[in-house]
Amino acid sequence: VAGRWQLRRYPHRTSDPLQAWDAADELLHTALINHEEETTSVQYPLLVNDASGALLMAVAHTQVTSSSASYISHLAQQANLELNQLDCQLKQIDPLAMAPPATDVVLMKLPKSQTLLEFQLAQLSRQLKPGTTLIAAARSRLFSPSVRELFSRYCDNLDISLIQRKSRVLKATIRQVANAPERFLNQWQVDGSPLTLRHYPGVFARNQLDIGARLLLDNLPPPGAQQVIDLGCGNGILGLSYALTSPQSAITWVDESYLAVASCQLNIDANLGSATHYQAKTDDCLSQQPSESVDLVLCNPPFHQENAITEHIARQMFRDARRVLRKGGEMRLVANRHLPYYHSLKRLFSQVHQQASNAKFVVYRCQN
Ligand code: SAM
Repeated sequence: VAGRWQLRRYPHRTSDPLQAWDAADELLHTALINHEEETTSVQYPLLVNDASGALLMAVAHTQVTSSSASYISHLAQQANLELNQLDCQLKQIDPLAMAPPATDVVLMKLPKSQTLLEFQLAQLSRQLKPGTTLIAAARSRLFSPSVRELFSRYCDNLDISLIQRKSRVLKATIRQVANAPERFLNQWQVDGSPLTLRHYPGVFARNQLDIGARLLLDNLPPPGAQQVIDLGCGNGILGLSYALTSPQSAITWVDESYLAVASCQLNIDANLGSATHYQAKTDDCLSQQPSESVDLVLCNPPFHQENAITEHIARQMFRDARRVLRKGGEMRLVANRHLPYYHSLKRLFSQVHQQASNAKFVVYRCQN
Protein backbone atom coordinates (compact mmCIF):
# COMPACT_ATOMS: atom_id res chain seq x y z
CA VAL A 1 0.00 0.00 0.00
CA ALA A 2 1.30 3.45 -0.97
CA GLY A 3 4.66 1.80 -1.71
CA ARG A 4 5.32 1.63 2.05
CA TRP A 5 3.64 -1.42 3.46
CA GLN A 6 3.15 -4.99 2.43
CA LEU A 7 -0.41 -6.18 2.93
CA ARG A 8 -2.04 -9.61 2.66
CA ARG A 9 -5.60 -10.79 2.91
CA TYR A 10 -6.35 -13.33 5.62
CA PRO A 11 -5.89 -16.26 5.50
CA HIS A 12 -2.76 -15.81 3.40
CA ARG A 13 -2.75 -17.84 0.18
CA THR A 14 0.29 -17.77 -2.11
CA SER A 15 -1.85 -17.51 -5.24
CA ASP A 16 -4.48 -15.12 -3.86
CA PRO A 17 -5.85 -13.26 -6.91
CA LEU A 18 -7.22 -10.44 -4.76
CA GLN A 19 -5.46 -7.41 -3.35
CA ALA A 20 -5.76 -6.57 0.37
CA TRP A 21 -6.42 -2.86 -0.19
CA ASP A 22 -8.18 -0.65 -2.71
CA ALA A 23 -8.16 2.89 -4.10
CA ALA A 24 -10.54 4.03 -1.33
CA ASP A 25 -7.95 3.03 1.30
CA GLU A 26 -5.36 5.15 -0.50
CA LEU A 27 -7.77 8.11 -0.73
CA LEU A 28 -8.28 7.81 3.02
CA HIS A 29 -4.50 7.88 3.58
CA THR A 30 -4.24 11.12 1.58
CA ALA A 31 -7.29 12.63 3.30
CA LEU A 32 -5.75 11.83 6.69
CA ILE A 33 -2.46 13.53 5.74
CA ASN A 34 -4.39 16.62 4.58
CA HIS A 35 -6.47 16.62 7.76
CA GLU A 36 -3.33 16.45 9.93
CA GLU A 37 -1.75 19.31 7.94
CA GLU A 38 -4.86 21.46 8.45
CA THR A 39 -5.29 20.66 12.15
CA THR A 40 -2.98 18.56 14.28
CA SER A 41 -1.61 15.01 14.43
CA VAL A 42 -4.21 12.43 15.34
CA GLN A 43 -3.64 10.50 18.55
CA TYR A 44 -6.76 8.41 19.12
CA PRO A 45 -8.14 7.37 15.73
CA LEU A 46 -11.07 5.00 15.45
CA LEU A 47 -11.05 2.75 12.37
CA VAL A 48 -14.39 1.38 11.20
CA ASN A 49 -14.57 -1.59 8.78
CA ASP A 50 -10.83 -1.77 8.00
CA ALA A 51 -10.87 -5.11 6.13
CA SER A 52 -7.22 -6.17 6.17
CA GLY A 53 -5.30 -3.42 7.94
CA ALA A 54 -4.72 -0.94 5.09
CA LEU A 55 -6.00 1.91 7.28
CA LEU A 56 -4.22 0.59 10.34
CA MET A 57 -0.80 0.81 8.66
CA ALA A 58 -1.12 4.61 8.40
CA VAL A 59 -1.97 5.08 12.10
CA ALA A 60 -0.05 2.22 13.70
CA HIS A 61 2.06 4.72 15.69
CA THR A 62 -1.04 6.07 17.53
CA GLN A 63 -3.37 4.68 20.19
CA VAL A 64 -5.72 3.21 17.66
CA THR A 65 -9.04 1.40 18.09
CA SER A 66 -10.47 -0.70 15.29
CA SER A 67 -14.15 -1.62 15.11
CA SER A 68 -15.21 -4.37 12.75
CA ALA A 69 -18.00 -6.91 12.48
CA SER A 70 -15.46 -9.42 11.18
CA TYR A 71 -13.16 -11.56 13.30
CA ILE A 72 -11.22 -12.38 10.09
CA SER A 73 -10.53 -8.64 9.63
CA HIS A 74 -9.14 -8.50 13.15
CA LEU A 75 -6.89 -11.48 12.39
CA ALA A 76 -5.80 -9.84 9.13
CA GLN A 77 -4.85 -6.63 10.95
CA GLN A 78 -2.72 -8.55 13.44
CA ALA A 79 -1.03 -10.62 10.72
CA ASN A 80 -0.22 -7.48 8.70
CA LEU A 81 1.19 -5.63 11.70
CA GLU A 82 3.53 -8.58 12.17
CA LEU A 83 4.39 -8.76 8.47
CA ASN A 84 5.42 -5.09 8.55
CA GLN A 85 7.14 -5.48 11.94
CA LEU A 86 4.98 -2.76 13.46
CA ASP A 87 4.58 -2.59 17.18
CA CYS A 88 1.13 -1.10 17.71
CA GLN A 89 -1.12 -0.33 20.70
CA LEU A 90 -4.16 -1.64 18.90
CA LYS A 91 -7.53 -2.19 20.57
CA GLN A 92 -9.97 -4.26 18.50
CA ILE A 93 -13.69 -4.01 19.23
CA ASP A 94 -16.90 -5.31 17.65
CA PRO A 95 -19.68 -2.97 16.44
CA LEU A 96 -21.73 -3.50 19.61
CA ALA A 97 -18.89 -2.25 21.84
CA MET A 98 -18.48 1.32 23.06
CA ALA A 99 -16.20 3.53 20.93
CA PRO A 100 -13.51 5.30 23.01
CA PRO A 101 -14.83 8.76 23.99
CA ALA A 102 -11.31 10.24 23.42
CA THR A 103 -11.51 9.44 19.66
CA ASP A 104 -10.18 12.42 17.68
CA VAL A 105 -10.85 11.16 14.15
CA VAL A 106 -12.92 8.35 12.62
CA LEU A 107 -11.62 6.67 9.44
CA MET A 108 -14.35 4.58 7.87
CA LYS A 109 -14.70 2.24 4.92
CA LEU A 110 -18.36 2.06 3.94
CA PRO A 111 -19.93 -1.34 4.58
CA LYS A 112 -22.00 -2.97 1.83
CA SER A 113 -25.09 -3.06 4.05
CA GLN A 114 -26.82 0.30 4.36
CA THR A 115 -28.53 -0.75 7.59
CA LEU A 116 -25.12 -1.58 9.07
CA LEU A 117 -23.90 1.85 7.95
CA GLU A 118 -26.81 3.55 9.70
CA PHE A 119 -26.26 1.43 12.82
CA GLN A 120 -22.58 2.48 12.86
CA LEU A 121 -23.35 6.18 12.27
CA ALA A 122 -25.99 6.14 15.02
CA GLN A 123 -23.48 4.55 17.44
CA LEU A 124 -20.84 7.18 16.57
CA SER A 125 -23.33 9.99 17.01
CA ARG A 126 -24.36 8.60 20.41
CA GLN A 127 -20.87 7.77 21.68
CA LEU A 128 -18.44 10.42 20.34
CA LYS A 129 -18.06 14.12 21.04
CA PRO A 130 -20.14 16.21 18.60
CA GLY A 131 -17.78 17.80 16.09
CA THR A 132 -15.40 14.80 15.88
CA THR A 133 -14.05 14.51 12.33
CA LEU A 134 -15.24 11.57 10.24
CA ILE A 135 -13.49 10.63 6.99
CA ALA A 136 -15.18 7.88 4.99
CA ALA A 137 -14.32 6.34 1.63
CA ALA A 138 -15.61 3.69 -0.74
CA ARG A 139 -16.18 2.83 -4.39
CA SER A 140 -18.24 5.73 -5.73
CA ARG A 141 -21.26 3.53 -6.48
CA LEU A 142 -21.70 2.97 -2.73
CA PHE A 143 -22.30 6.71 -2.22
CA SER A 144 -25.90 6.41 -3.41
CA PRO A 145 -28.43 9.20 -2.73
CA SER A 146 -29.79 7.28 0.28
CA VAL A 147 -26.27 6.81 1.71
CA ARG A 148 -25.59 10.55 1.32
CA GLU A 149 -28.92 11.19 3.04
CA LEU A 150 -27.79 8.98 5.97
CA PHE A 151 -24.57 10.96 6.32
CA SER A 152 -26.48 14.23 6.33
CA ARG A 153 -28.75 12.88 9.07
CA TYR A 154 -25.85 11.96 11.38
CA CYS A 155 -23.17 14.50 10.35
CA ASP A 156 -22.56 18.22 9.74
CA ASN A 157 -20.16 20.00 7.37
CA LEU A 158 -20.35 17.30 4.68
CA ASP A 159 -17.80 17.54 1.91
CA ILE A 160 -17.74 14.79 -0.70
CA SER A 161 -14.93 14.52 -3.27
CA LEU A 162 -15.21 14.06 -6.99
CA ILE A 163 -14.69 10.52 -8.26
CA GLN A 164 -11.03 9.51 -8.22
CA ARG A 165 -10.02 6.02 -9.35
CA LYS A 166 -13.72 5.00 -9.19
CA SER A 167 -13.87 5.99 -5.50
CA ARG A 168 -14.87 8.95 -3.38
CA VAL A 169 -13.92 10.29 0.02
CA LEU A 170 -16.31 12.12 2.32
CA LYS A 171 -15.30 14.43 5.16
CA ALA A 172 -17.76 15.53 7.83
CA THR A 173 -18.17 16.14 11.54
CA ILE A 174 -20.29 13.99 13.79
CA ARG A 175 -23.58 15.42 15.00
CA GLN A 176 -25.47 14.41 18.11
CA VAL A 177 -28.84 13.15 16.91
CA ALA A 178 -31.77 13.18 19.28
CA ASN A 179 -33.74 9.90 19.17
CA ALA A 180 -31.20 8.03 17.03
CA PRO A 181 -32.47 4.44 16.88
CA GLU A 182 -30.56 2.19 19.29
CA ARG A 183 -31.19 -1.45 18.64
CA PHE A 184 -31.59 -1.96 14.86
CA LEU A 185 -32.87 -5.46 15.51
CA ASN A 186 -35.27 -6.97 13.01
CA GLN A 187 -37.58 -9.78 14.03
CA TRP A 188 -39.35 -12.30 11.79
CA GLN A 189 -41.09 -15.63 11.96
CA VAL A 190 -39.65 -18.57 10.01
CA ASP A 191 -42.30 -20.00 7.66
CA GLY A 192 -43.59 -23.41 8.77
CA SER A 193 -41.56 -23.33 12.02
CA PRO A 194 -42.16 -22.10 15.58
CA LEU A 195 -38.87 -20.18 15.42
CA THR A 196 -38.80 -16.39 15.72
CA LEU A 197 -35.48 -14.90 14.63
CA ARG A 198 -33.83 -11.57 15.34
CA HIS A 199 -30.92 -10.05 13.47
CA TYR A 200 -28.43 -7.27 13.86
CA PRO A 201 -27.63 -5.40 10.63
CA GLY A 202 -25.38 -6.97 8.03
CA VAL A 203 -26.09 -10.57 9.09
CA PHE A 204 -26.66 -13.11 6.30
CA ALA A 205 -30.27 -13.64 5.11
CA ARG A 206 -31.78 -10.84 7.14
CA ASN A 207 -35.59 -11.26 7.39
CA GLN A 208 -35.91 -14.30 5.19
CA LEU A 209 -34.90 -17.91 5.00
CA ASP A 210 -32.08 -18.55 2.52
CA ILE A 211 -33.29 -20.95 -0.18
CA GLY A 212 -30.25 -23.19 0.32
CA ALA A 213 -30.92 -23.29 4.06
CA ARG A 214 -34.55 -24.23 3.30
CA LEU A 215 -33.45 -27.34 1.38
CA LEU A 216 -31.09 -28.33 4.19
CA LEU A 217 -33.86 -27.83 6.78
CA ASP A 218 -36.10 -30.14 4.77
CA ASN A 219 -33.31 -32.73 4.87
CA LEU A 220 -31.87 -32.52 8.38
CA PRO A 221 -30.27 -35.67 9.83
CA PRO A 222 -32.30 -37.68 12.34
CA PRO A 223 -32.23 -36.53 15.99
CA GLY A 224 -29.78 -37.99 18.50
CA ALA A 225 -26.31 -36.61 17.58
CA GLN A 226 -24.51 -35.82 20.85
CA GLN A 227 -22.16 -32.97 19.86
CA VAL A 228 -23.33 -30.77 17.01
CA ILE A 229 -21.82 -27.71 15.29
CA ASP A 230 -23.68 -25.19 13.14
CA LEU A 231 -20.72 -23.92 11.07
CA GLY A 232 -21.14 -20.43 9.56
CA CYS A 233 -24.30 -20.12 11.64
CA GLY A 234 -25.52 -16.61 10.64
CA ASN A 235 -28.75 -16.18 12.63
CA GLY A 236 -28.43 -19.80 13.88
CA ILE A 237 -31.35 -21.24 11.89
CA LEU A 238 -29.78 -24.66 11.16
CA GLY A 239 -28.72 -25.48 14.73
CA LEU A 240 -31.93 -24.00 16.19
CA SER A 241 -34.04 -26.22 13.93
CA TYR A 242 -31.99 -29.31 14.82
CA ALA A 243 -32.31 -28.44 18.55
CA LEU A 244 -36.11 -28.47 18.24
CA THR A 245 -36.04 -32.06 16.99
CA SER A 246 -33.16 -33.18 19.24
CA PRO A 247 -33.33 -31.30 22.56
CA GLN A 248 -30.63 -33.44 24.26
CA SER A 249 -27.95 -32.58 21.66
CA ALA A 250 -25.15 -30.23 22.77
CA ILE A 251 -24.91 -27.58 20.07
CA THR A 252 -22.23 -24.99 19.26
CA TRP A 253 -22.95 -22.23 16.74
CA VAL A 254 -19.87 -20.72 15.05
CA ASP A 255 -19.46 -17.68 12.80
CA GLU A 256 -16.69 -15.21 11.99
CA SER A 257 -19.15 -12.29 12.18
CA TYR A 258 -19.53 -10.82 15.66
CA LEU A 259 -23.00 -9.57 14.74
CA ALA A 260 -24.03 -13.03 13.54
CA VAL A 261 -22.88 -14.60 16.81
CA ALA A 262 -24.66 -11.90 18.83
CA SER A 263 -27.87 -12.41 16.79
CA CYS A 264 -27.58 -16.17 17.17
CA GLN A 265 -27.18 -15.86 20.95
CA LEU A 266 -30.38 -13.77 21.10
CA ASN A 267 -32.15 -16.43 19.04
CA ILE A 268 -30.93 -19.29 21.24
CA ASP A 269 -32.11 -17.48 24.38
CA ALA A 270 -35.49 -16.56 22.89
CA ASN A 271 -36.27 -19.91 21.24
CA LEU A 272 -34.46 -22.55 23.33
CA GLY A 273 -33.83 -20.85 26.68
CA SER A 274 -30.43 -20.52 28.31
CA ALA A 275 -29.35 -24.16 28.58
CA THR A 276 -25.71 -24.95 29.38
CA HIS A 277 -25.40 -27.32 26.42
CA TYR A 278 -25.81 -24.46 23.93
CA GLN A 279 -23.12 -21.92 23.04
CA ALA A 280 -22.49 -19.42 20.23
CA LYS A 281 -18.95 -18.30 19.48
CA THR A 282 -16.71 -16.43 17.09
CA ASP A 283 -14.06 -18.42 15.22
CA ASP A 284 -12.35 -18.67 11.85
CA CYS A 285 -14.03 -21.88 10.63
CA LEU A 286 -13.28 -24.40 13.42
CA SER A 287 -9.74 -23.31 14.31
CA GLN A 288 -10.48 -23.49 18.07
CA GLN A 289 -12.36 -26.81 18.05
CA PRO A 290 -10.47 -29.93 19.23
CA SER A 291 -10.03 -32.77 16.74
CA GLU A 292 -12.45 -35.73 16.79
CA SER A 293 -14.84 -34.04 19.23
CA VAL A 294 -18.07 -33.72 17.21
CA ASP A 295 -20.75 -36.04 15.77
CA LEU A 296 -22.55 -33.74 13.36
CA VAL A 297 -21.63 -30.56 11.46
CA LEU A 298 -24.42 -28.62 9.74
CA CYS A 299 -23.16 -26.19 7.12
CA ASN A 300 -24.43 -23.73 4.53
CA PRO A 301 -21.01 -22.32 3.54
CA PRO A 302 -20.29 -18.81 2.24
CA PHE A 303 -19.21 -18.35 -1.33
CA HIS A 304 -17.94 -14.80 -1.01
CA GLN A 305 -15.70 -12.78 1.27
CA GLU A 306 -16.62 -9.08 1.29
CA ASN A 307 -17.29 -8.44 -2.41
CA ALA A 308 -15.20 -11.28 -3.82
CA ILE A 309 -16.64 -14.64 -4.89
CA THR A 310 -14.40 -17.30 -3.41
CA GLU A 311 -14.48 -20.99 -2.56
CA HIS A 312 -11.52 -21.02 -0.20
CA ILE A 313 -13.58 -20.47 2.96
CA ALA A 314 -15.91 -23.35 2.10
CA ARG A 315 -12.91 -25.61 1.46
CA GLN A 316 -11.39 -24.58 4.80
CA MET A 317 -14.73 -25.41 6.44
CA PHE A 318 -14.71 -28.88 4.86
CA ARG A 319 -11.14 -29.59 6.04
CA ASP A 320 -11.95 -28.38 9.55
CA ALA A 321 -15.18 -30.40 9.66
CA ARG A 322 -13.25 -33.51 8.61
CA ARG A 323 -10.71 -32.92 11.41
CA VAL A 324 -13.23 -32.25 14.22
CA LEU A 325 -15.63 -35.08 13.36
CA ARG A 326 -15.36 -38.34 15.26
CA LYS A 327 -15.15 -41.59 13.33
CA GLY A 328 -18.62 -42.25 11.95
CA GLY A 329 -19.54 -38.56 12.30
CA GLU A 330 -21.28 -36.63 9.54
CA MET A 331 -21.22 -33.22 7.87
CA ARG A 332 -24.55 -32.31 6.29
CA LEU A 333 -23.94 -29.59 3.75
CA VAL A 334 -25.97 -27.56 1.28
CA ALA A 335 -24.22 -26.10 -1.76
CA ASN A 336 -25.12 -24.27 -4.90
CA ARG A 337 -25.22 -26.99 -7.56
CA HIS A 338 -22.85 -25.20 -9.94
CA LEU A 339 -20.05 -25.08 -7.35
CA PRO A 340 -17.50 -27.88 -7.87
CA TYR A 341 -17.43 -29.18 -4.29
CA TYR A 342 -18.06 -32.86 -4.89
CA HIS A 343 -14.44 -33.78 -5.72
CA SER A 344 -12.95 -31.88 -2.76
CA LEU A 345 -15.48 -33.58 -0.50
CA LYS A 346 -14.66 -36.99 -1.99
CA ARG A 347 -10.95 -36.44 -1.29
CA LEU A 348 -11.65 -35.65 2.38
CA PHE A 349 -14.49 -37.96 3.42
CA SER A 350 -14.77 -41.71 3.06
CA GLN A 351 -18.40 -41.46 1.92
CA VAL A 352 -20.16 -38.62 0.11
CA HIS A 353 -23.83 -39.01 -0.87
CA GLN A 354 -26.24 -36.67 -2.50
CA GLN A 355 -29.14 -36.56 -0.04
CA ALA A 356 -31.42 -34.17 -1.95
CA SER A 357 -31.37 -31.61 -4.69
CA ASN A 358 -33.49 -29.03 -6.47
CA ALA A 359 -32.91 -26.77 -9.47
CA LYS A 360 -30.31 -24.68 -7.61
CA PHE A 361 -28.95 -26.60 -4.61
CA VAL A 362 -27.62 -29.97 -3.54
CA VAL A 363 -27.56 -31.40 -0.01
CA TYR A 364 -24.56 -33.67 0.64
CA ARG A 365 -24.15 -36.21 3.42
CA CYS A 366 -20.41 -36.58 4.10
CA GLN A 367 -19.21 -39.26 6.49
CA ASN A 368 -15.86 -39.82 8.16
N1 SAM B 1 -26.17 -20.84 8.39
C1 SAM B 1 -26.83 -19.60 7.99
C2 SAM B 1 -27.99 -19.90 7.05
O1 SAM B 1 -28.04 -21.03 6.53
O2 SAM B 1 -28.83 -19.02 6.83
C3 SAM B 1 -25.84 -18.65 7.31
C4 SAM B 1 -25.16 -19.22 6.09
S1 SAM B 1 -24.21 -18.03 5.14
C5 SAM B 1 -24.31 -18.73 3.52
C6 SAM B 1 -22.53 -18.36 5.56
C7 SAM B 1 -22.07 -17.83 6.93
O3 SAM B 1 -20.67 -18.17 7.07
C8 SAM B 1 -22.17 -16.32 7.11
O4 SAM B 1 -22.93 -16.04 8.28
C9 SAM B 1 -20.71 -15.86 7.28
O5 SAM B 1 -20.55 -14.79 8.21
C10 SAM B 1 -20.04 -17.13 7.82
N2 SAM B 1 -18.58 -17.19 7.58
C11 SAM B 1 -17.87 -16.65 6.55
N3 SAM B 1 -16.55 -16.91 6.70
C12 SAM B 1 -16.42 -17.63 7.85
C13 SAM B 1 -15.31 -18.18 8.54
N4 SAM B 1 -14.08 -18.05 8.08
N5 SAM B 1 -15.54 -18.84 9.69
C14 SAM B 1 -16.81 -18.96 10.19
N6 SAM B 1 -17.91 -18.46 9.57
C15 SAM B 1 -17.71 -17.80 8.42
